[in-house]
Amino acid sequence: MKPEIEKVKVLIIGSGPAGYTAAIYASRAGLSPVLYTGAQPGGQLTITNDVENYPGYPNSITGPEMMEDFRKQAERFGTQVRYGLATSVDFTTKPHTVIIDEQVTIHADTVLISTGASAKWLGIESETRLNGKGVSACAVCDGFFFRGQEVAIVGAGDTACEEASYLSNICSKVYMLVRKDEMRASQIMQKRVMNNPKIEILWNTETDEILGEDEVNGLRIFNNKTGEKSEIAISGFFVAIGHQPNTGIFKDYIHMDEAGYIKTIPGSTKTNIEGVFACGDAQDNIYRQAVTAAGTGCMAALDAERYLAEFEND
Ligand SMILES: Cc1cc2nc3c(=O)[nH]c(=O)nc-3n(C[C@H](O)[C@H](O)[C@H](O)COP(=O)(O)OP(=O)(O)OC[C@H]3O[C@@H](n4cnc5c(N)ncnc54)[C@H](O)[C@@H]3O)c2cc1C
Repeated sequence: MKPEIEKVKVLIIGSGPAGYTAAIYASRAGLSPVLYTGAQPGGQLTITNDVENYPGYPNSITGPEMMEDFRKQAERFGTQVRYGLATSVDFTTKPHTVIIDEQVTIHADTVLISTGASAKWLGIESETRLNGKGVSACAVCDGFFFRGQEVAIVGAGDTACEEASYLSNICSKVYMLVRKDEMRASQIMQKRVMNNPKIEILWNTETDEILGEDEVNGLRIFNNKTGEKSEIAISGFFVAIGHQPNTGIFKDYIHMDEAGYIKTIPGSTKTNIEGVFACGDAQDNIYRQAVTAAGTGCMAALDAERYLAEFEND
């Protein structure tokens, strides 16, 4: 039986590419890390099919298989991977206190936050049913699968414009669905999509249903001013309406931006609290890729190791 209160040197919260990479480095440094997986063991990549852009997999790999490899590699060097959710923290104490599943208390000299960010979805049935079968929330990740084909993207912010422009370089046509008669993207980003001959902006337009049985083959849209419905043929449907970082339990202690992304000291993974480090999508509202998450996971483990070395010499 696990003791009710446990003391660890390195506690890693989250089991995506950032958390597992931090675990590989921390365990190889002899720091015996404990990693809690959260509700989605393996993180966001477990809901995608092929990952073609992670170096080292020349023939591509499925997201779930890749994350199994990450887990095995972390365990090989002694990381304790445990199922459980961090439900609250107290970062005023030293060591820091993290409560798991509202029951187990962990006292940790260092805490590595790698809780990721979740894409926001429209919430319609066909979007869930066809997720990974033509529906995606990441143009950089999945755009390539639709090269030379017609696709649609929903959103009106800078990210949506960025992703629409990215898709226009690969796809034959991009329909951009904008709910209002204006966009909230910056003027420069709006200009970029409006002047792009491969992007057609559909104003006052919302998604009624994504069409297709086993894969996306079309889209039924409606004009929210006139109520008029129409269908377009597409093979990819991208949702770019924002992300929600999974950082709510840290908000009373850790500095974040307005959207909830953790602020780190530039060039490091240090947060405003000594001994607490953040890596992966939880602190990255720009790149949000597996390889960047893994990179900052490595940084967090090295930052934690250096912090512990100083701490032990005090
Ligand atoms: C559909 C899709 C396809 C993608 N395809 C690609 C691709 O092809 N290539 C690419 O590079 N990137 C891709 N991405 C992006 C990539 O998945 C993310 O950038 C990457 O997973 C971020 O890693 P992370 O470790 O920061 O967080 P995540 O992978 O989001 O993992 C977060 C982890 O934190 C855990 N967690 C959250 N809250 C708690 C808590 N309170 N307590 C304990 N644990 C918690 C979760 O259970 C999860 O394990 C894709 C994303 C999506 C959604």
